[in-house]
Amino acid sequence: MSEIAHTSNALVAWKECLNQIKDHVPFLTYHTWFLPIKPILLEESVLKIKVPNRFFIEWIDSHYKPILQKTVKKVLGDSGRLDYQVDQEQENIFSLDEETILPKSAPVIVPKKEEPAERIPSSLNPRYTFDNFIQGSGNELARAGAIAIAEKPGDTSFNPLFIYGGVGLGKTHLIQAIGNKIIANNPRAKVVYLSSDLFTVEFVEAIQSNKANEFSNYYKNVDTLILDDIQFLVGKEKTQDLFFHIFNTLHQSGKQIILSSDKAPKDLKGLNERLISRFQWGLTADVQPPDFETRTAIVMNKAESFGMSLPNNILEYIAHNVTSNIRELEGCLIKLLAASSLSSREIDFELVKKTVKEISTGRQINISIDYITHIVCEFFDVEENRVREKNRKKEVVTARQVAMYLSKKMTKSSLKTIGLHFGGRDHATVIHAFNTIEHQINDDLIMREKIENIRNKIELSVI
Ligand code: ADP
Ligand code: MG
Repeated sequence: MSEIAHTSNALVAWKECLNQIKDHVPFLTYHTWFLPIKPILLEESVLKIKVPNRFFIEWIDSHYKPILQKTVKKVLGDSGRLDYQVDQEQENIFSLDEETILPKSAPVIVPKKEEPAERIPSSLNPRYTFDNFIQGSGNELARAGAIAIAEKPGDTSFNPLFIYGGVGLGKTHLIQAIGNKIIANNPRAKVVYLSSDLFTVEFVEAIQSNKANEFSNYYKNVDTLILDDIQFLVGKEKTQDLFFHIFNTLHQSGKQIILSSDKAPKDLKGLNERLISRFQWGLTADVQPPDFETRTAIVMNKAESFGMSLPNNILEYIAHNVTSNIRELEGCLIKLLAASSLSSREIDFELVKKTVKEISTGRQINISIDYITHIVCEFFDVEENRVREKNRKKEVVTARQVAMYLSKKMTKSSLKTIGLHFGGRDHATVIHAFNTIEHQINDDLIMREKIENIRNKIELSVI
């Protein structure tokens, strides 16, 4: 394999490690100790990484060894391990004076020497651009609004821009793409991006060090404020108050505010009403799970950017079976790449099937027949009890059969168990329902879309 392939595999493997680590360590820890690590090379199952200085190695080794080892083995297999290397260039920038950087208790962000304040710099990821954001029916409005704002921040009626929707559907990508575009158009623009989680942590730290005013002034003076995952402010009264004032100041002076959330403003229970009403002043746009065409376009695009050349039937197979969100589509390709480079094996249909299955069974554990029934009934507007009775009304029968079909597809329950959940019907009835729906999916495009829609709803809520 060429040097370039080794490097891109390293990037992909490390990205997958980061994805997993991110959910298991505090945000600051992640930023301080994991994001600065650079993957260099993946050879066999050894991932070579570059860290800013020797102290980094010691700190990581003494504090995060277990999670690192576990993650690396998960991503690269049992023989997977890391090989550290110190980045000579960076070592000169970082002070190695332990007094200044050795965290006493919790790790803290270590500012580079030349940075004047302790403020964390806006951490826009240059990878997120409009160019590599695929448009689909689920994100048209959000994308159009984002592009308009990127060209004229603060100068459209879309202020704030509020994007909401389930996990892995491109919210972070989109709002960071706005930031990147604004900076590309005007490198002097002060664009700050951060997660609401980090915003809260920073605020608490500022209060503790008597710098609350300074903190608030800092944010009141930006040109564009991008706050991701605003749902994290729920229940945090003080942070909400502060944000309210920042919001007003920015809005009054024509500065752009961009927000994302997992729910629509009105559904953010526990958030101050006055904030909720302000969130609705501008443009509120949702992102929905991608349809089959969009998924195919995304897999093709991502595969290309990972340097994978896969035949169309494999790409379509993935797009057909990994339906819940875009992060999983990406995850599937990363898994494939890792698996094939580890076993020096071509990505063939067998491997793809296995990987897709792993991804879907990884999720299935949490899905119950009752939950499926609940979502199906909601979708067809049928009372849940009806499907458990001997009701032969057309819409009830459809809901019952779809619920049985999805229970078979999405859980590991036996036909008998499924039958029991629907008023004690026998396994032959379940098989009949399964076959009926399977046929309808093949013959009827609308039915196929409906089932896909319901499936997405079920999957999204259990990730
Ligand atoms: P969210 O913030 O909604 O949870 P992310 O923005 O983190 O989702 O997206 C998850 C992953 O999927 C990211 O790697 C992102 O680049 C990718 N992604 C999401 N939507 C798209 C899209 N429309 N086109 C290309 N990549 C996308
Ligand atoms: Mg996000």
